[in-house]
Amino acid sequence: MEASFSICSVAQRLLKSPAMEEKPDITKAVRQHAQIDEFFTGGFAVRGEDKAAGELEKLADEVRQCRGCPLGSVRTNAVPGEGNPNARIMFVGEAPGADEDAQGRPFVGRAGQLLDKVIAACGLKRSDIFIGNILKCRPPENRDPRPDEIISCLPYLQRQIEIIDPEVIVALGAHAARTLLDTNKSIGQLRGQFHEYYAGLGRPPIKLMATYHTAYLLRNYSPDNRRKVWEDMKKVLAELNLPIPKQAAH
Ligand code: SF4
Repeated sequence: MEASFSICSVAQRLLKSPAMEEKPDITKAVRQHAQIDEFFTGGFAVRGEDKAAGELEKLADEVRQCRGCPLGSVRTNAVPGEGNPNARIMFVGEAPGADEDAQGRPFVGRAGQLLDKVIAACGLKRSDIFIGNILKCRPPENRDPRPDEIISCLPYLQRQIEIIDPEVIVALGAHAARTLLDTNKSIGQLRGQFHEYYAGLGRPPIKLMATYHTAYLLRNYSPDNRRKVWEDMKKVLAELNLPIPKQAAH
């Protein structure tokens, strides 16, 4: 059941609240209001973790059967994505590579191992988050995704985001960031600040942080690039009120 709420009424209430007079966060307030609404209208009980997990698995089965673009006939395995159905953070990459194609799982090659390190540095585990890609099947020779492939495949990711409803999306690399934000800006221009991803009418926007893809980081493993990724992730942790681990805080 969709919770009904009014952005204006929430904003008005916030502006009247002395505790929030300085800098009201409308996105957070709308999300909290929707959750309260959902609880009192009974939606909370039917949209629990089990239901989200079931919906994600059904969607993953659809992806595994999909022949919606030419990549469906050249893949070994589709890679629907995996992780916590109630994740607060969702990582979105570009497309599966050779290792992912062979195993049917996202981010399991060298770039995936580096992503594991980034996740661990944040004090998190893979089971805390959800990882997916813009394309669910590997483009031959790891070439860039083509516009027609993105148009065919994007609805799967959009439905995953809708089901998981994360608080923050981390877009890994230019293709993920540009696709989700519908922009042609470079990753250098997009990273380092929060953007808003719109999941649909009646839904509050989701905060999106763009950062370098770990495959790019592997190819350009400089202290400066590593620092930039860590700066981006610290902003994500701060947004979620999560502690910044001491060993990685400098
Ligand atoms: S890339 Fe996406 S649209 Fe194309 S076949 Fe795979 S799942 Fe279907």
